[in-house]
Amino acid sequence: MSETFESEAALQRRGLMLVLSSPSGAGKSSICRELLKLEDELAMSVSATTRPRRPGEVDGTDYYFIDQTEFQLRINRGEFLEYAKVLGNNYYYGTPRTRVEEVLSGGGDVLFDIDWQGTQQIADAARDDLVSVFILPPSIRELERRLLSRAQDSAEVVAQRMSKASEEISHYREYDYIIVNHDLEESVAKVRAILTAERLKRDRQLGLTDFVKQLREGR
Ligand code: GDP
Ligand code: ADP
Ligand code: 5GP
Repeated sequence: MSETFESEAALQRRGLMLVLSSPSGAGKSSICRELLKLEDELAMSVSATTRPRRPGEVDGTDYYFIDQTEFQLRINRGEFLEYAKVLGNNYYYGTPRTRVEEVLSGGGDVLFDIDWQGTQQIADAARDDLVSVFILPPSIRELERRLLSRAQDSAEVVAQRMSKASEEISHYREYDYIIVNHDLEESVAKVRAILTAERLKRDRQLGLTDFVKQLREGR
């Protein structure tokens, strides 16, 4: 079986960058968490941020928590694939470049939970490798309910996030796919369907020319 295309393709496929964005509370962290359990060839990009660590967050797993000086140093050294000051909270967030490049060049896919500004930067730098998905809440009331039920933020922070939601939602048109997150399991299944289809795109299957040549020659 080692001669079949399936096995060759696994070695030769070009990795893609799967970006999820949404207003805070729409469910992108939950979707990412479930996807990572189900998809072996998907690696999460861990961002660096100047935001303080929340209770329960682990440095190096949820984010790399660094201060403003260190963040600026990394910008100057060109260590970020993209970075942005997230408008809702005024902290800096950035995607460390090295890990992403390693995974992609090994044929793996990378999952990103980043805002629309970061998505635009990746689109400008590497449009062909980007697959972007915007997650919408079923309603504004449900968005608020989820933010409150997550019980991670004060009433003041929830109100602040709600006031930014409309602005963030206005960027949905810049994304390839839109999912309304009614049911978590269904939304995860939809993202997996997108991932499967995008992996099958002709341009991402690097061994195709040789394989088709062999087929046509009757080998
Ligand atoms: P959340 O709103 O509860 O998900 O709060 P977070 O502090 O985890 O995320 C804040 C915002 O920063 C979200 O819009 C993320 O998508 C965005 N974000 C996180 N990491 C990055 C990154 O590396 N780059 C960019 N551009 N945005 C990021
Ligand atoms: P985000 O990362 O977009 O800020 P989270 O993934 O933290 O959002 O989700 C916000 C809250 O809503 C969490 O408490 C989560 O458990 C809940 N949640 C996520 N998706 C759904 C869903 N489809 N139905 C009901 N609750 C959900
Ligand atoms: P939080 O601070 O609540 O974890 O995240 C706030 C926002 O920052 C989220 O919308 C998240 O998607 C975004 N974010 C997290 N990491 C990055 C990143 O590396 N780059 C960009 N551009 N946005 C990020």
